[in-house]
Amino acid sequence: MRSEQRWHATPVEEVTEHLSADSTEGLSAAAAAQRQQRYGLNRLTEHKGMGPVKRFLLQFHQPLVYILLSAVAVTLALQEWVDAAVIAMVVLLNAIIGFVQEAKALRAINALSKRLHSVATVIRDGQRQSIAADQLVPGDLVVLQPGDKVPADMRLIKSRDLQIDESALTGESVPAEKTTAELPADSELGDRRNMGYSSTLVTYGTGLGLVTGIGDDTEIGKISALIATTQTLDTPLTKRIKQFSHLLLYAILALAGVTLLVGWLHGGSLLETFMAAVALAVGAIPEGLPAAVTIMLAIGVSRMARRRAIIRNLPAVETLGSTTVICSDKTGTLTKNEMTVRELWSGAQLVDVSGDGYDPHGEFYHPGADRDPGDVVDAGADAALRETLTAGLLCNEASLLPPADADAGATSTAAQWQITGDPTEGALLVSAHKAGLTTATAQARFEKIDTIPFQSEYQYMATLCRDREVDTCVIYIKGSLESVLPKCDSVLDSGGRPGPIDAADVQRRAEEMAARGLRVLAFARKRAAAGSDTLEHEDVAGALEFLGLQAMIDPPRPEAARAVAACHRAGIAVKMITGDHALTAVSIARQLGIVAADEKRPVVTGRELTDVDAGQLEDLAGEVPVFARVSPDHKLQLVKALQAGDQVVAMTGDGVNDAPALRRADIGVAMALNGTEVAREAADMMLTDDNFATIRAAVEEGRSVFDNLKKFIVWTLPTNGGEALVILVAVLLGISLPLLPVHILWVNMTTAICLGLMLAFEPAEANIMERPPHQPNTSILDSTLLWRILLVSSLLSVSAFGLFELELLWGATETEARTVAVAMFVVGEAFYLFNCRSLTQSVFKVGFFSNPWIWFGIAVMAILQLLFTYLPVMNQWFDTAPIGIDAWLRILACGLMISLIIGLEKHWRQRSGPADLGGAQRAEAMP
Ligand code: ADP
Ligand code: MG
Repeated sequence: MRSEQRWHATPVEEVTEHLSADSTEGLSAAAAAQRQQRYGLNRLTEHKGMGPVKRFLLQFHQPLVYILLSAVAVTLALQEWVDAAVIAMVVLLNAIIGFVQEAKALRAINALSKRLHSVATVIRDGQRQSIAADQLVPGDLVVLQPGDKVPADMRLIKSRDLQIDESALTGESVPAEKTTAELPADSELGDRRNMGYSSTLVTYGTGLGLVTGIGDDTEIGKISALIATTQTLDTPLTKRIKQFSHLLLYAILALAGVTLLVGWLHGGSLLETFMAAVALAVGAIPEGLPAAVTIMLAIGVSRMARRRAIIRNLPAVETLGSTTVICSDKTGTLTKNEMTVRELWSGAQLVDVSGDGYDPHGEFYHPGADRDPGDVVDAGADAALRETLTAGLLCNEASLLPPADADAGATSTAAQWQITGDPTEGALLVSAHKAGLTTATAQARFEKIDTIPFQSEYQYMATLCRDREVDTCVIYIKGSLESVLPKCDSVLDSGGRPGPIDAADVQRRAEEMAARGLRVLAFARKRAAAGSDTLEHEDVAGALEFLGLQAMIDPPRPEAARAVAACHRAGIAVKMITGDHALTAVSIARQLGIVAADEKRPVVTGRELTDVDAGQLEDLAGEVPVFARVSPDHKLQLVKALQAGDQVVAMTGDGVNDAPALRRADIGVAMALNGTEVAREAADMMLTDDNFATIRAAVEEGRSVFDNLKKFIVWTLPTNGGEALVILVAVLLGISLPLLPVHILWVNMTTAICLGLMLAFEPAEANIMERPPHQPNTSILDSTLLWRILLVSSLLSVSAFGLFELELLWGATETEARTVAVAMFVVGEAFYLFNCRSLTQSVFKVGFFSNPWIWFGIAVMAILQLLFTYLPVMNQWFDTAPIGIDAWLRILACGLMISLIIGLEKHWRQRSGPADLGGAQRAEAMP
């Protein structure tokens, strides 16, 4: 209804009136609640991607199923009703299982990404606040900042260089520049430069908008097709497996053709030879494999979620296991992002600041050890000091919150004080409060007129204020020393007089602080023309008056240091990429172990990166551990350079301009707490705690998933190999088949689910982070494993064939002998399952009970197999017969033997050299 209104053609005042909104104070909480009653939540009705019917039918769209379906058709034609029914049942069951598992995997992934709902910054009751985006109501006053996803449709009422990427809506990839003036009524959607549309992304500048449409009433809501998230369950591995099974298909079809021919030459009946061919085809194809891979990946996703890494793309689970380099932000990811100003330098004096965390109680001292009351500096009395603190207080968008319970008295503890907003700015509020300069006193005296928000590219922030006391306008600016100092031409002294600036001295002071690991910010001011009402970058390009420096600690996360060490042991290089000063960065990197004591070249700055050619860049990217004062653009170059050196790169990022680097990296990692929406959309994985240690945990899980997949493959292929061998030999010799197609289907289906899948719950092996990463694009199975698969295939087929012939020899019926052969496969696979719990270690080392699921699976399998053997209905359906205890004992003995032989094989390999789990070439990357 509301969207019928031509908002873009309406002047701002009318829009405000129409929406009963307020363009400065925003809605009141009461009004917002009332509107929510009326209009509901700002949410899109979910549109299902693909209907369940279609997804179910797709389960039949597989080469194997075609073969099975044709087998059903032929058996029907031959009037073999039971066989036809059983095969049809298996096909159906297979489809149901595939369908359910796939749906589960999809749901799991979608649910995870939804859990991180987006937030919107609104002004309500005159207060700027963050709320969940679904709480927005029409008329809300919304603040847009770079990196935000526009949370609803809105009429823009303020724009500072605002640019919005509307490609999600219009397909136009160049961001649209936004204004506020009304437009002709017939403007197309893409031309409505005074509107912000839900789901588009703010790439630059800031703005204010009044919400005109929410939920399904937005433009994006009208294009329902766009909303369905196209999650794919395809990963490089599943694709390779699909290719592999296509290839296998042709080989098997050819073999089946040969079987038909040979059988016919031996003079068998059409039915028999055809069944032999079908049995071969059914047996040789690992039908459970694709589904199992998806399931195991999905299990990996939920395990990672439990460790605070949310996977947005399923392939990332796999890629994580092969990661060779992690490039991480410093602030917040490697450090705690709990800033506290420790040192201040202004005019001519250096002072230390006492106090903890965000608790705004503390003193200023002359530097020195004892901190006598006599050393206390009266910050208010020193003009330069006072102005430095004032600049930090005014040039600020954070807020300081007292403990919830206390009356802000001296009883409150540091842990209870909190800030909202950028911790760097929060620390500056705290330092100012320690000098008695509070937000309240500042607001009483200064009126904020305009702000240039902080952006990584410019490395500074500036605020234009009107000083009510003396009725003048002043610009305060804060930022990195490099961005502020060159713009200064004078310095304020303690007495409040300007003097000539000694830039080299300031520089030296800042570097001394940075070398101690402190994050240094420079402060300056400038008088503005009275009556100025806007602030542009040109206004602060020069003629600034330098005020001072504030230096804050940002302690490294203790767990990050441990994670870095673990990565190094795992052959993964860790690089710090930061916008901070080189000396600060190196000091922190040393504490974290990223820079070794004897590192020849510990750091490269963004400026140095700009001057090198591609070849040099590749070398630097590979060798240097710390990159300081880099811009988002450098991040992209670094990812490319590392990838050119065949590295698998995980890169973190939080800002809007990090998106290209995140997209380009093999694993883009975004921050859920402090990252922007844009970075999240570009990322493959999100950290719900913004913590570097979580990346390490995710890598570990990725490796474990990959390991377990490999175990599953090594476990499952011998079933197929063994079955195919049995049929082939029988056909070539012209003797009766030990296994019928239905038997093979039985073995493949039940063992894959009851036994093989339990490998997905195998805990990570103890040494999983002690070995080099798996190299991508190398085959999953090395020669050792291929040979093991062949060995087990032969052992299984020899045992099954042997027992089958033995039973016949001793006078058993063909049906009984076949039941024995089937049991041999099932039991053999159960024993072999223990061998597969580790590809290198013996089961004694892994522990028999460390994965209880294995026992659960074996118990279920045993029950099923007993039903298969002794239940009359099953006997009838599957053409089986009860067998004696002595037969079981022989089967168990053979199973145990197979397991022992493989155990010996592993043992022998361990002795004769360290196991190669792929990627040994990278071993030299280990420290
Ligand atoms: P990082 O997050 O890697 O520390 P940033 O790009 O956020 O890097 O910051 C780069 C530099 O910009 C910092 O070293 C600091 O000097 C300056 N800076 C950071 N935050 C702010 C801010 N809110 N206002 C002004 N300057 C800032
Ligand atoms: Mg930052």
